[in-house]
Amino acid sequence: MHEMSLAESVLQIIEDASRTQQFRRVRTVVLEIGALAAVEPEAMRFAFDAVVRGTLADGALLELIEIPGQGRCTACGMRVALQEQYGLCPECGSPRIEIVAGKQMRVKDLVVE
Ligand SMILES: [Zn+2]
Repeated sequence: MHEMSLAESVLQIIEDASRTQQFRRVRTVVLEIGALAAVEPEAMRFAFDAVVRGTLADGALLELIEIPGQGRCTACGMRVALQEQYGLCPECGSPRIEIVAGKQMRVKDLVVE
């Protein structure tokens, strides 16, 4: 379950931010997750709750925002909406789709006190 290591990296980001921005408690974590990042929202919530226990983000609400996957066909240049990592270009049928959005996970916002 790679959500556990993702949750740990989110906690790392929060702890780094707490040092530079001088906050002690985190109320809400807004996380952007790409549709192609293969992150299971329920597993992510579970992992997050487990990882932040006893930290400054203990009990924080996790808000997940899904970013749609988007690719570009390297054959014809068409922009393609992607539900999964591999697809065919609807314009020319080429399988050579380069992913341009939706693979990342990013901490978008922190509500702190
Ligand atoms: Zn194409």
